[in-house]
Amino acid sequence: MLGLMMAEPLRVATIIEHAAKWHSATEIVSRLPEGGIHRYTYADANRRSRQLAQALLKLGIENGDRVGTLAWNTHRHFELYFGVAGIGAVCHTINPRLFPEQLVYIINHAEDRLLFFDLTFLPLVERLAPVCPTVEKWVLLARPEHLPAQSALPGLCSYEELLAAETGDYAWPSFDENTACSLCYTSGTTDQPKGVLYSHRSTLLHALGISLPDSLGCSALDVIMPVVPMFHVNAWGLPYAAPLTGAKLVLPGAGMDSASLYELMETEGVTFSAGVPTIWLALLQFMRDGQRQFRTLRRTVVGGSSCPPALMRAFEDELHVTITHAWGMTETSPLGTAGRLKANQLSLSPEEKADVLAKQGRAVFGVDMKIVGDDGQELPHDGVAFGDLLVRGPWVVREYFRTPTPGELTADGWFRTGDVATIDADGFMQITDRSKDVIKSGGEWISSIDLENLAVSHPAVAEAAVIGVPSARWSERPLLVVVRRPGMDVSREEMLGFFRGKVAKFWEPDAVEFVDALPHTATGKLLKTQLRKDFAGYSVA
Ligand code: AMP
Repeated sequence: MLGLMMAEPLRVATIIEHAAKWHSATEIVSRLPEGGIHRYTYADANRRSRQLAQALLKLGIENGDRVGTLAWNTHRHFELYFGVAGIGAVCHTINPRLFPEQLVYIINHAEDRLLFFDLTFLPLVERLAPVCPTVEKWVLLARPEHLPAQSALPGLCSYEELLAAETGDYAWPSFDENTACSLCYTSGTTDQPKGVLYSHRSTLLHALGISLPDSLGCSALDVIMPVVPMFHVNAWGLPYAAPLTGAKLVLPGAGMDSASLYELMETEGVTFSAGVPTIWLALLQFMRDGQRQFRTLRRTVVGGSSCPPALMRAFEDELHVTITHAWGMTETSPLGTAGRLKANQLSLSPEEKADVLAKQGRAVFGVDMKIVGDDGQELPHDGVAFGDLLVRGPWVVREYFRTPTPGELTADGWFRTGDVATIDADGFMQITDRSKDVIKSGGEWISSIDLENLAVSHPAVAEAAVIGVPSARWSERPLLVVVRRPGMDVSREEMLGFFRGKVAKFWEPDAVEFVDALPHTATGKLLKTQLRKDFAGYSVA
């Protein structure tokens, strides 16, 4: 027997409709890549998203067509999220930090028909256009006066011209909630990037999931600034969760440097933010250098890479900002776990609480997870056993877009994350490594992430990476690679000695090398494949 409730399909356009109706005066503030601050309301954003929808239909965009974006976090990118998906087309956000060959691959693979780009990317798209034949029209996300005097870009026009020709008198259509809504490619370090195609249903459920208080926790009282780019897994879903909950949204544009972020946070009263550890490490230094404090910022979510406990401690103690450590992947929309205490943990000592919160957190409703050994058998939740992390749920990928990859799911339907983790008795998951980065010494696993976190708690260390290098006796041993803070010195002996007594003896790195910079992926993660190449031939006694 079926229930007798209204079968309203879950669609992202209902989010912007809700915000426009019930939070009509709440603001979206953006720093524009072409200069200046733009400010308007959810009611304005809904009207302009509908104008965009009308323009797209006039250009012949149909259900399922891909529309690409190469854009920063701005109100126009926000409108693309809703305008493109609202008509049943697919908003394909492209990471401009990828190598040009990867960008060409992605645009051609997705067969984007239109491509919307920020002024910053004009030189880039002029190089891409001749080798991206599916793109019929390139649209500059700016007013017409910013158009170049001359350009060979097919169909080039300005976004504001397109919108100005439309009335916004348009009703969002209804369709199956499993319709594709947005597309994001993973930044594969070895293989070609693979597309994850989100649906309206998965996106809306994820937005609800991240809004829960023990998850990222979003409210109409918040002023949310996603520092994580809108081209990286939909800025972790915050551009949906903010209008869903009625929070004010602050979009930092191309200004990702600490001074610009801080200025916008202070002037707009940002209470809650989110981004990768690198952003917060730089901001911490900026705050310390100027002996600054935040007026309104109280919480931030850190994920994408392991958040060093030293960073969490410094934010809490010096800046009175609580970091929530979270884990996720492009394939999981992205939120999988968030680190929020449970009632039984409130009586723990401050140090014990910090240890719990340093983990990647517990499963949010909507994502189930387990760890398994090499034989596929589930491992205990004792915080010690580590194995491959498997997840499943309504916002976890089932298969990649036009890229069959057999073996990504287990026979019983779990997604293999490629991460290695422990889960403790309270359900807190801790990532120890990517499975490809695990160091196996004498048959025992060593967590490179734990060692890196410890290394960056040394005052002279700006960044650290640990990789396995061959050892005749142990098969592999950890090599520590360190970038020193400007003007600070630390010797090899002191650095290696720093681990003594803090980790098991056999975990202590055997060697340390100092470098000027570490290689990173387009999403800011340590590029260990490159590091292993850089140190190929290195071995320890
Ligand atoms: P991406 O799809 O580019 O967002 O990368 C997802 C991967 O980033 C995960 O599979 C993890 O390896 C890593 N990752 C994400 N969040 C964390 C975290 N909090 N701690 C450690 N690794 C993380």
